[in-house]
Amino acid sequence: MKKMIIISAIVILLSIILIPSMAILFLSNDDSDSVKCSAVSGTLTESSLEAYLEDKGVFKGHAKDFFEYGSKYDVDPALVVAICMSETGRGTSAAVVKRNNPGGLMGNGGGFSFDTLKQGIEAMIENLSRNYIKMGLTTPETIQPKYCPVGASNDPTGLNSNWLITVNFFLDELGGLSCESVASGTGSYIIPVKNPQVSSGFSDRVNPVTGIQESHKGLDFAQQIGTEILAADDGIVVFSGYGASGSGFGGYGNVVLIEHKKNKEWTLYGHQSMLLVKNNQKVKQGQVIGKVGSTGQSTGPHLHFEIRKEKMGAQVDPAPILGLN
Ligand SMILES: [Zn+2]
Repeated sequence: MKKMIIISAIVILLSIILIPSMAILFLSNDDSDSVKCSAVSGTLTESSLEAYLEDKGVFKGHAKDFFEYGSKYDVDPALVVAICMSETGRGTSAAVVKRNNPGGLMGNGGGFSFDTLKQGIEAMIENLSRNYIKMGLTTPETIQPKYCPVGASNDPTGLNSNWLITVNFFLDELGGLSCESVASGTGSYIIPVKNPQVSSGFSDRVNPVTGIQESHKGLDFAQQIGTEILAADDGIVVFSGYGASGSGFGGYGNVVLIEHKKNKEWTLYGHQSMLLVKNNQKVKQGQVIGKVGSTGQSTGPHLHFEIRKEKMGAQVDPAPILGLN
């Protein structure tokens, strides 16, 4: 009896010590730049997936497995289901019907077999997590070259080249990726043009002599027409188009606004001659997003660059941030 009490005391003590430290582990993990998947954050729900799988062969009734293991291994259920649909001809291939292998998993002795489809689904998701998601391959575009290389020896008829098209087709039906699979940013900015020529600095003040508001809420780089404009950091394009008056971007001409989640900031690139990105496009730091021009309220070719604390304003001086002072 005494022994039991001592053991219970040790267990309780260990839980008190271990549980909070595990929680800290999870929290700090959550802060990283890696893919953040949540089985509940996307447009796909377990019940909407169940309805989708109603006419998908052997997958009917398995929505809960995709959500359970998607959550366990931090893999987007929409991504998994799209790949399954593509690999199994909507749940009808021999591999999935006879061998419960939903993802085309191959070993040395050919395709794997599983006792139940639930086990096959878990194995596939665990594999995706370990060999792809955790290595930063989180979209069909980045997964395809490794998962299903075009020209592979096991693909003599060249079906692999269709993989990306079919996976994206099913992903579209499922409402797209539900994970935040874009890098949230490095947290620092690069100068958005090579060989920068600053022609006008940031000012936001009332002239003490004239009393006139002198406001230039960005940095101007006088560059030749057609100079490449670079994304200052990774992010998502939240506006790309001509800034019509009343749009909130009047005067900027052809303009791009990029959201940088890590910094909770936005960068703006105005007066472009050519826009090379679209709304909702993910961009990488240094990616060419457009070309210098003189569109909108501009007197000559230049890039007007802003760093914003809010989407529609709260500009700060980019010069010290870019090391241009
Ligand atoms: Zn300007």
